[in-house]
Amino acid sequence: MRRLYLDHAATTPLDPRVLEAMHPVLTAHYGNASSVHAAGRQARVTVEACREQVAALLGAEPAEIVFTSGGTESDNAALYGLRTPERPGLVTSAAEHEAVLRVAEARAAAGDPVVVLAPGPTGALAPAALAAALDDATGLVSLMHANNEVGTLSDLPGLAAACRARGALLHTDAVQTAGLLPLDVGALGVDALSLSAHKFYGPKGVGALYVRGGTPFTPFVRGGAQERGRRGGTENVAGIVGLARALALAVDEAAPRRAHLEALQARMRRHLEEALGDLLVWNTPFGTAPIAPHILNLSLPPAGGPPLDGEMLLLNLDLEGVMVSAGSACTSGALEPSHVLLALGRDRATAAATVRFSLGMDTTEADVDYAVDRLAAVVGRMRRVAAPGQVR
Ligand code: PLP
Repeated sequence: MRRLYLDHAATTPLDPRVLEAMHPVLTAHYGNASSVHAAGRQARVTVEACREQVAALLGAEPAEIVFTSGGTESDNAALYGLRTPERPGLVTSAAEHEAVLRVAEARAAAGDPVVVLAPGPTGALAPAALAAALDDATGLVSLMHANNEVGTLSDLPGLAAACRARGALLHTDAVQTAGLLPLDVGALGVDALSLSAHKFYGPKGVGALYVRGGTPFTPFVRGGAQERGRRGGTENVAGIVGLARALALAVDEAAPRRAHLEALQARMRRHLEEALGDLLVWNTPFGTAPIAPHILNLSLPPAGGPPLDGEMLLLNLDLEGVMVSAGSACTSGALEPSHVLLALGRDRATAAATVRFSLGMDTTEADVDYAVDRLAAVVGRMRRVAAPGQVR
């Protein structure tokens, strides 16, 4: 049977060129970058070369890059590390990733003034809505570049202008856009930005946090003086090499990658609409907001019959060889409907019957067509079982 992976927003396969770059560091050059001997100095040179490369790719300075263990740590480090006692207020959106929302909750529980705004119907927050929520206590705003469940893009320059006008910092989780959209921190206007290598064909367990030079920052992971005292712990040298190589390839190949994904996304959207017609509701805001090129998120509302069981839908697709998520990979497996879809105003039954397809560089037109065909078959079967006699 065909095995078709359409869950690239959850993670991507390692690019063989990235593995090739990592290999010598995983085998021969295993020194600790903090050691003073030759092996350590060699590792240090490698880490600093990667820092320069990553900084250049983001339009940043090397000293502004902190290597981390991934997107979750980068988000935690930003939300805790950029807090100041003078301005302890934090503003974010209900459609953010758990790596931001759970920290916002913890900061609120500790007494900080935290505002979690409802996003607009597309999942993005309008700069005017943000501006209205900021006050003199707001020190930090955290809003993601692309939503990982529905793909909506934020207007970061607009949001950054609103933050600047009130003296607040802007952090963005760019975990879903690295390698797909230009990430020049100056053009975006952000003060901090999170990346995770495994979302752009790099290894798991390594990420980066950009923090604008001169911004007060308290380390989140405390320990040794690594990363200029901003993140304790022995550097993951092979991971850092993989992250830098994967980001360089992604930036180099950005135009063909985007063209490939946009064409597949348009094809899949068209075919899904032909196959499912008015049975489907788009959660990805096609035509109404800017979107990332790799995500298509749809729900199958009850349509007069009993609601479809979302988990069964995913399991049936898996049996057909099509691997997808219901939303963020962290929440699938649990029966709770996605917090993002609820924030977008979907009712619980609709939000529960959701499929997120996310496309990658290895996805082909034939893959997309196969997945649409299998989804239509599974939905037809599940509806017949759920409501015998009712043909839908
Ligand atoms: N932020 C977003 C938007 C994500 O999609 C993810 C991964 O699911 C993360 C953060 C967490 O990244 P990591 O898996 O590297 O911890």
